[in-house]
Amino acid sequence: MSGPITPGDVPPTAGTESPAPPCVEVLEGRRAEVGGTPVTRLLPKRARRTIGAWCFVDHFGPAEVADAAMQIGPHPHIGLHTVTWLLAGELVHRDSVGSEQPIRPGQLNLMTAGRGVSHAEETPAVVGGVMHGVQLWVAQPEATRFGAPAFEHHAAMPQVELGAGTATVLVGALDGIASPARADTPLIGADVVVGGGALVPLDPGFEHGVVVLEGRLGIDGRELGPGVLAYLGRGRDELDLAGRGRALLLGGAPFEAPVRMWWNFVARTQDELDEARRAWEAGDSRFGTVASSLPRVPAPPL
Ligand code: MN
Repeated sequence: MSGPITPGDVPPTAGTESPAPPCVEVLEGRRAEVGGTPVTRLLPKRARRTIGAWCFVDHFGPAEVADAAMQIGPHPHIGLHTVTWLLAGELVHRDSVGSEQPIRPGQLNLMTAGRGVSHAEETPAVVGGVMHGVQLWVAQPEATRFGAPAFEHHAAMPQVELGAGTATVLVGALDGIASPARADTPLIGADVVVGGGALVPLDPGFEHGVVVLEGRLGIDGRELGPGVLAYLGRGRDELDLAGRGRALLLGGAPFEAPVRMWWNFVARTQDELDEARRAWEAGDSRFGTVASSLPRVPAPPL
């Protein structure tokens, strides 16, 4: 799945805020639609554009596939990794590096855009039931953002027992258990199932955020459900999640530079965004081609 980022999410010229000390800053998500699927966009926000290198969070479902089938034709990305994680349902990913990969719950897709990639995503026609998941973007650092595109699929992810909870490590490491997924900057992403309270160890050098995916969970006495992003600041060495539910934990070292985001592009300057848009509209080989029967998605006007 994919953006697009619009000025309704964040101005394209936005900078990056300084991380706050430990806090619970609750930011309301925005309802949006991506390729026929209703989503809640939790990042970027005008008041909070990145958490570490995490720069985009869409939570979709739970919804019946009949109401929320995803059909996203070929579209481009630069300067980011896309991370796809499903709680229910199935998607098929196709990209310009030649991948054709179904993804199911418990599996992780991570695509690296570097200087340019394109991909398509769709719900397989034969799949019914419920669709539920998250699509995340990670901004690439200067060292890799002009590098080659790539794709990786991980069929199973490591888990950590946390008392009355279990964390699946999507990116980075938790309690010494590391994900096999690529990370170009210090980062954590975990899916935490909480069955009556869980204590999650954190890196105090990271800033963190939490999105409740199911149920209701308490953080520092604030009860939270789906639809909001709780920004937790920096300096915490553990997170006490009370109640029963399921949450996405995101964190990382404060990102190295302000990012500029527009549509499906993450860059540093307006010129880079303009050039990426021009290249996509011109059918430039920078973005390759995708073997998809869905129509190519045109760039919106600048
Ligand atoms: Mn995309």
